[in-house]
Amino acid sequence: MTTPTVRRAVCPGSFDPVTNGHLDIVSRAARLFDEVVVAVGVNVSKNRLFTPDERLDMLRTACAGLDNVRVEGFTGLLTDFCRDRDIVAIVKGLRAVSDFDYELQMAQMNASLEPAVETVFVPTSPAYSFLASSLVKEVAAFGGDVSGLVPGFVHERLVQRLAERAAEAG
Ligand code: ADP
Repeated sequence: MTTPTVRRAVCPGSFDPVTNGHLDIVSRAARLFDEVVVAVGVNVSKNRLFTPDERLDMLRTACAGLDNVRVEGFTGLLTDFCRDRDIVAIVKGLRAVSDFDYELQMAQMNASLEPAVETVFVPTSPAYSFLASSLVKEVAAFGGDVSGLVPGFVHERLVQRLAERAAEAG
């Protein structure tokens, strides 16, 4: 008898910070695949509000209820990350037509590299179609209420970090 193959997928992103839109895609991927690895881009060069460890920590807390989901940091090529972990698919959420051009290009590139990895697009839930980490940070920085768009504990850390940044800026 052959052992059934584990179908493992990756949800990559920068998650600065994790939003309810990310969690929607991760939880739906977790229902489609046996295992899901959330891969947090930890490139030091990018200007982020939260450090890699903070982003990993928030995602681990947010995904704690999803038994078949684990969270890891990644640098370098996503296809190499996939090969090292026997990951067969990259799951991306598509919010709007504006996401499509870039995501299609990325998907075709990742399918052309060695090893080739397929991309699965999941349409965003209408409730989250406008939601991006960058917009959440921008609105929160101007005092807008984003408490319904991110988990409660993330909201607290976001408000705190933005206050620290504002104090630093004088
Ligand atoms: P951002 O949230 O700023 O777009 P990320 O790089 O953290 O940036 O996003 C990672 C991936 O998560 C995106 O490529 C997309 O596939 C998915 N995603 C992010 N926000 C949403 C959303 N609101 N609905 C569906 N998918 C999303």
